[in-house]
Amino acid sequence: VRRVILVLGDQLTPELPVLRDGDPEQDLIVMAEVADETGYVPHHPKKIALVLSAMRHFAQDLRDDGWTVRYFKLDEDGPKSICGALMQVHQDEHPEEIIATRPGEWRLIEALEACPVTVRLVEDDRFFCSIDRFKTWAEGRKELRMEWFYREMRRESGLLMQGKDPAGGQWNYDKDNRKPAQRSMLQARPMEFTPDEITDEVLTLVRERFSDNFGSLDPFVFGTTRTQARRALTHFVKTQLPEFGDTQDAMLLDEPYLNHALVSIYLNIGLLTPREVCDAAEAAYRAGDVPINSAEGFIRQILGWREYVRGIYFLKGPDYTGSNTLEHKRDLPAAYWGGDTDMRCISEVVAQTRDLAYAHHIQRLMITGNYALLLGVDPAQVHEWYLSVYADAFEWVEAPNTIGMSQWADGGVVASKPYVSSANYIKKMSDYCAGCAYDPDVKLGEGACPFNLLYWDFLVRHRDRFEGNRRMGVVYKAWDRMDEEKQREILAGAGKLT
Ligand code: FAD
Ligand code: SF4
Repeated sequence: VRRVILVLGDQLTPELPVLRDGDPEQDLIVMAEVADETGYVPHHPKKIALVLSAMRHFAQDLRDDGWTVRYFKLDEDGPKSICGALMQVHQDEHPEEIIATRPGEWRLIEALEACPVTVRLVEDDRFFCSIDRFKTWAEGRKELRMEWFYREMRRESGLLMQGKDPAGGQWNYDKDNRKPAQRSMLQARPMEFTPDEITDEVLTLVRERFSDNFGSLDPFVFGTTRTQARRALTHFVKTQLPEFGDTQDAMLLDEPYLNHALVSIYLNIGLLTPREVCDAAEAAYRAGDVPINSAEGFIRQILGWREYVRGIYFLKGPDYTGSNTLEHKRDLPAAYWGGDTDMRCISEVVAQTRDLAYAHHIQRLMITGNYALLLGVDPAQVHEWYLSVYADAFEWVEAPNTIGMSQWADGGVVASKPYVSSANYIKKMSDYCAGCAYDPDVKLGEGACPFNLLYWDFLVRHRDRFEGNRRMGVVYKAWDRMDEEKQREILAGAGKLT
């Protein structure tokens, strides 16, 4: 064996440089299911099944392409860590070199760097923006706003451009994408797949070993191969993307997906590349099948947000996940793990998360994220929850969204102001409030929605920090205009909740 090439569970892309430059005649591919990876947080069973099944399918594809693959299945007697697997292969094969694509999280980068056998790390080039390119962009800037980064990425990638100008004349059509929920908006749902033999075997393993983890394994409908992921993408572009913009921020009971793509699960493990997803959306726009607000809104999530959060994660280093600027210390409520709650919005999003390992962005940001931030929950616990419960959760993308955007724990690197709201926003954008034990219109006393009380409590607690924020001055003025007795009652009401 000339070289050993490590392929991790989120690196299932045939075009990776380590594979492109490898030689099936002389090189050996190593893939390993190990307890350290299935257990560093209590992952949702669907997430474990997705990754293991996709790994096994990918290994089979590699073998079909002529590669020799040494595959470790999850086994009590097998290696417990990726490093352990590499040491075993090293001992058996005496390769000239071991190479790997740089992992997407500091935990694993550090583990490989500390491994007794030397592993050469090769850059992951599946992104529009390299880690170095992002550092150059960030250098010397006072504020790292996504919108400015995104415009550079539009220019560099050529996506949705008309010469030097943005297609349609504007860079960003967000203001057209805030329509409240209406059932008539719904056209179609993401494509579902029936498990094959390989997936069935994985499902049995996950059922046996991870049934204590939060989340339902069945039904399992995710695609686990590149072909299936491509079909899911084509289906989305054809049936859901045209309305994507209109429903982007809406939330409806029993409609978990609305017109969202459910492609993060495929993108994040490498079954789809960001380039091909954006190209598909742009082609549909150019063909006149998709309006600009939908195409731009969708492409911005991938070309803008996804690349931006990765840049932030690697720029800020391994300590980023420990950030806690607001010094929040409360424990995450049991309701996040399925405990009883009378708050319909929380119970709905948590139940959906348990059943599907999925929630769309506004559910994550403005329901579970908003509530944890208002309560003052320790961001490390919030981070662990998001990293565990979603099938698309990998630290490089999850942490900046949770620690930064959602919990403002990084002191405003990602979000210029905290994403907090009272019940008003939830009432406007969803139908959750109908039938809730609380009333979104009651601000105080019997039946008052907890969001209404906690919203003011949060703002008052952090007045010193946020009063000077030019986008928040107006809410502090509203608080100051309120009569003192009412202010006292709101704060006392919030105190009883927490
Ligand atoms: P769509 O709404 O259809 O969007 C299309 C694609 O854009 C997504 O597939 C995703 O790849 C990308 N995208 C959209 N928003 C973001 C974003 N803010 N950051 C990065 N990429 C984005 N996304 C993850 O992939 N993994 C996570 O672990 C994750 N954790 C999150 C935690 C919190 C607290 C919040 C607020 C957001 C998180 N997101 C995460 C971002 C976003 O919620 C998901 O990418 C999205 O819901 C995935 O569903 P979809 O494919 O249907 O997305
Ligand atoms: Fe959530 Fe309040 Fe609406 Fe109930 S009333 S669903 S708690 S926002």
